[in-house]
Amino acid sequence: MKSWGDIMNDTIVSLATNLGVAAISIIRISGQDSIKIVNDLFQGKDLEKVKSHTLNYGHIVLDGEIIDEVLVSVMREPKTYTGEDTVEINCHGGIGVTNKILEILLTKGCRLASRGEFTKRRFLNGHIDLMQAEAILDLINSETEKERKIAIQGLNGNSSKMIKDLREILINLISNIEVNIDYPEYEDIYEVTKEDIRKNIDVIHEKIEKIIAESENGKLIKNGIKTAIIGRPNVGKSSLLNRLLGSEKAIVTDIPGTTRDIVEGNILIDGIKLNIIDTAGIRETKDIVEKIGVNKSRRLMEEADLVLLLLNNNEELTEADKELILKTKDKNTIIVINKNDLEEKIDVSSLNLENIVYINTLTYKGIEALKNKIISMFNLGKISQNEFNYITNERQLGKLKECLDLSLDVKNNLDTLPLDILEVDLKTIWNTLGTILGVTYDNELLDNLFSKFCVGK
Ligand code: GDP
Repeated sequence: MKSWGDIMNDTIVSLATNLGVAAISIIRISGQDSIKIVNDLFQGKDLEKVKSHTLNYGHIVLDGEIIDEVLVSVMREPKTYTGEDTVEINCHGGIGVTNKILEILLTKGCRLASRGEFTKRRFLNGHIDLMQAEAILDLINSETEKERKIAIQGLNGNSSKMIKDLREILINLISNIEVNIDYPEYEDIYEVTKEDIRKNIDVIHEKIEKIIAESENGKLIKNGIKTAIIGRPNVGKSSLLNRLLGSEKAIVTDIPGTTRDIVEGNILIDGIKLNIIDTAGIRETKDIVEKIGVNKSRRLMEEADLVLLLLNNNEELTEADKELILKTKDKNTIIVINKNDLEEKIDVSSLNLENIVYINTLTYKGIEALKNKIISMFNLGKISQNEFNYITNERQLGKLKECLDLSLDVKNNLDTLPLDILEVDLKTIWNTLGTILGVTYDNELLDNLFSKFCVGK
């Protein structure tokens, strides 16, 4: 088996664009032999002598045969994506041409890169920290403008700075404590008191708490708001989904129990994704298939970030309606009273409900008001104006929550614990913050992270 160092010394190659018929394909090569390997196949300028970061016209030629007409960019380390010498061949797009050039490069000493290996090298060569590497993945996967904004903040290092600032406070405190412990005989050094530690740990705890709380908004942007439309059969759930989606995705009929399984779709409200699920109408049933749907609806209702509970304006409130109202009272729920084109028979005045919107899915009436209710409920207007400095990555947030617990422990035990034990606890927080940045890491973590990237990134 190759050693870690040997693997890093390999010159790697990969297609950076999709394989298929296209205007161009880009083949990316990185590593110490990249310029030499391509130069041996290149008819044009001597690539080993051209300036760094230049684009060079010529041909890829093998045994006198022209394989393709290409543009080759030459970028010498260290200012390259991987931090190593990098060459990119822009060839004609197309499966035959691209595969042929890739095949030749593999026979001339390149190894096929694994998923995310270019970015992994960028990290291992110290050009980015782990938070930035994870932000690259988020950037590639971003679908909306807001997701892109969060990812670019992470890539720019703004999220990393929040963590680095916390570590800075801690390391100053730790080093002062260490001096106190190591040189007790010196009288002229500043003696760290428990009060000093309390002040600092309070700041750390508060800052971490704030980052975690604000990041909940970021998670909404990244993952969308899981929205379940629930209600008895025939109240208009499928009709509402269709109105929201602006298409006829769900099957609408007047036979109760038609939406037996789950229908879903996404819309953007104020740039935030709403993942809407139209659930099977919740009612007692003996039909086995419908029963499965009803149970699934109940589960989705529990998991949802937002519940749209539909009632029929034209019917009196039933026991089933009341049960649903009761079950969702601790959730973010909007009571949507549908069919308000028909005579009002429902009476909810005695229930003291907070968020009620009247709609009519036949004419779109009230749909705008419903969207506005969602915007105010989740403070989406505020998210739009924010600086997008959130931590949305689950791994990073998990570690941050560990730090929150650890700092709380220090706060609670400050009076009873001796200085040397407190120092150990503070170091644990410092180290855990370090794992967020990738100051320390294990190979399993890296393999797991970079396997989520595409080949060629
Ligand atoms: P679901 O079973 O809750 O998904 O209900 P559907 O969306 O399938 O609607 C059931 C019936 O109610 C259909 O015949 C719809 O045309 C009708 N319906 C839905 N919304 C309205 C509305 O706002 N007004 C009226 N009058 N009928 C509606």
